Amino acid sequence: MPPSFLVDGMLGSLNRWLRICGYETEFSRDASDDELLERGRERGLIVLTRDRLLLREARRSGVDAFFVEGSSDEERLASVAREYGLVLDPVMARCTICGGRLKEASRDEIAGEVPQNSLEAYDGFWRCSGCGKVYWRGSHWARIVEKVSEASRIAGVVKPENSL
Ligand SMILES: [Zn+2]
Repeated sequence: MPPSFLVDGMLGSLNRWLRICGYETEFSRDASDDELLERGRERGLIVLTRDRLLLREARRSGVDAFFVEGSSDEERLASVAREYGLVLDPVMARCTICGGRLKEASRDEIAGEVPQNSLEAYDGFWRCSGCGKVYWRGSHWARIVEKVSEASRIAGVVKPENSL
């Protein structure tokens, strides 16, 4: 089982990148430190933070926590990947907004929710089983792949050969 994370409200961007790579995360921008630690303990999640005080509190109360190194998205993603042996590869598995699972959807199911030109230009579509947001690999996808590859390179994690 890959690890699941509880991401500190200061690390919203890291939270999105972890979801893009298919990892299960919980994220709340406004949770207090106490709320975070309680949720981490209850659900057995690893707290990711750059707050040394929160890290110390977590360790003192027996909650698994990790201090995320780096200043860029790529460096931070690499830092978590190195620590937990994560494979970094963008997949259509998790909603970046709510963390819900994505399910493949047919063109008919999402027509009307996707701009006509995207509907014609792209093939695969997915819908979040949590919030309903529709996803497709649009023109931004190449940049996503590039960024995740860079994080992978920094982490020194080798990409599986058969992945896209
Ligand atoms: Zn969602």
